[in-house]
Amino acid sequence: MRASQYYLATLKEAPQEAELPSHKLMLRAGLIRKLGSGLYSWMPLGLRVLRKVETIVREEMNRAGALEFVAPPIQPAELWKETGRWDLYGPLMLRIRDRAEREFCYAPTAEEVVCDIVRREIKSYRQLPVNFYQVQTKFRDEIRPRFGVMRAREFTMKDAYSFDADYAGLQKSYRAMYEAYVRIFTRLGLEFRAVAADTGEIGGTGSHEFQVIAGSGEDAIAFAPDSDYAANVELAEALAPKAPRGGATQAMRKVATPGQHTCEDVCAFLGLPLEKTVKSIVVMHEEEGKPAEMVMLLVRGDHMLNEVKTSKVPGLKPFRFATDAEIRERLRATPGSLGPVGHDVKIVADRTVAAMSDFVVGANEDGHHLTGVNFGRDLPEPVVADIRNVVAGDPSPDGRGKLDIARGIEVGHVFQLRTAYTSKMGVTYIDDKGETKPMEMGCYGIGVTRVVAAAIEQNHDDKGIIWPDPMSPFTVAIVPLGFHKSDAVRDAAEKAYAAFSAAGLEPFLDDRNERPGVLLADQELIGIPHRIVIGERGLKEGVVEYQHRRDTQATRVALDQAVAHVRSRLDPAHSPRAA
Ligand code: ATP
Ligand code: MG
Repeated sequence: MRASQYYLATLKEAPQEAELPSHKLMLRAGLIRKLGSGLYSWMPLGLRVLRKVETIVREEMNRAGALEFVAPPIQPAELWKETGRWDLYGPLMLRIRDRAEREFCYAPTAEEVVCDIVRREIKSYRQLPVNFYQVQTKFRDEIRPRFGVMRAREFTMKDAYSFDADYAGLQKSYRAMYEAYVRIFTRLGLEFRAVAADTGEIGGTGSHEFQVIAGSGEDAIAFAPDSDYAANVELAEALAPKAPRGGATQAMRKVATPGQHTCEDVCAFLGLPLEKTVKSIVVMHEEEGKPAEMVMLLVRGDHMLNEVKTSKVPGLKPFRFATDAEIRERLRATPGSLGPVGHDVKIVADRTVAAMSDFVVGANEDGHHLTGVNFGRDLPEPVVADIRNVVAGDPSPDGRGKLDIARGIEVGHVFQLRTAYTSKMGVTYIDDKGETKPMEMGCYGIGVTRVVAAAIEQNHDDKGIIWPDPMSPFTVAIVPLGFHKSDAVRDAAEKAYAAFSAAGLEPFLDDRNERPGVLLADQELIGIPHRIVIGERGLKEGVVEYQHRRDTQATRVALDQAVAHVRSRLDPAHSPRAA
């Protein structure tokens, strides 16, 4: 491709609203343009990158035996009512009416539609297993679309759905998808981890998220550097402390702590470590047909409540946080002064708290705290549960070393749905004994558009993007200095262009009539990893300058060796054969 026949849409500045480097760089490099909140057009350069990701995804899905199909993104409400998700999805689902006032949605995902196809098409165990996938636009009316295509409203997802006769079959299909995902993200050149994930409401048993490691990621991942344990923080278990609870050594005392509200402030004021304090959080457990029950949750001052784990504690599911009014009325205390002593509400203590003695809590009275508090003496023994987020340094749940915390961007998700959908939608088959059974289903998503943003989060510097080879819109940038002034430069550039094209290495010849500074800055912004600069001075000695986008210096290379040199610098790790 030649710049003179292309459209480069680079910008000096990114719009104010762009916060993340990937969002800024995608706009500045002219990969995308905003159409509306969470809606983006892919410009020619960006689309080339997106297509490369899609190609690798398709190759690996096909290799794993999945079959590509495509379903309409606009889907009738009736299907979604069969599984109850028409109501469950809430405002995240974009709803549409046609001229006859029939209801539709713009698909946020496609389990229902695929179930509908399979229940009509597949009848016998002989036709199983099957796995259908598509690369299709999805719409989710996210509350806070942000970070460009990272969390958009309209985005491209590769979604696959497997159907098996039994659970053993599902596990095999799941494993095949898991391995295909490992190959996909490896071939894309990304640093990633597969982490065990929460299965939420669906009621499946197995689920993994594929997380691209990046400081700006929205998800926290707990992993053990000494083993292959990795889990979303929502799921990672915080083990009970090994040491048993110490005996009480202090009397309970009420102390004045004027103006000190947070645990940090109170500790600084009392000269105690944060690990001696306990936070009290009041929630309401609400079951249909029963009055709401108030429950007080206790976590250590420096720990964070984990809502996903909390919602799994028997007697707490489902729960919501108590309102200030409920707290004032039932506990006769201001929400800022709360503590567990002296109430008759049920108390659920985190495992760490349950092993504490002589601790500090709120005194249910503004400006006061209780010190030297002990279970069994000052308040009843609590219900004990794992309700906090793990922190760095906690023991790994697999017993091997300590946990570390990293941030990640969820680019893929694999999920064993079991028969949650198939039984509701009558997706059955006849087994070899003539019996009718629901199929075992799995679903597998990759946020294809998000992958592009995630790759930039991981691969950029202050000048611009640095594409991993497999995702780069072009393989090599040829930058002639004086293309329009010097015959020698133009001839050499054309020769190099022809040689790279013949070698199948996708050259981008920047033949624009611009100052060298502009050409070089644009190329750094766009981030094609390999660059050949051709100037008159070098040509006198028969050389051009090669520089990888990550190199700090250029290397002089003979003009006729340029192709061989770039080949030698291509990253071998990401070729399909190596994966
Ligand atoms: P998230 O937790 O980020 O909201 P999710 O768990 O709801 O995502 P899934 O239903 O698992 O998403 O969808 C499969 C994949 O689609 C995700 O792993 C992610 O890569 C991508 N994805 C989901 N929502 C968006 C979005 N709003 N914009 C871009 N990609 C998305
Ligand atoms: Mg997910």
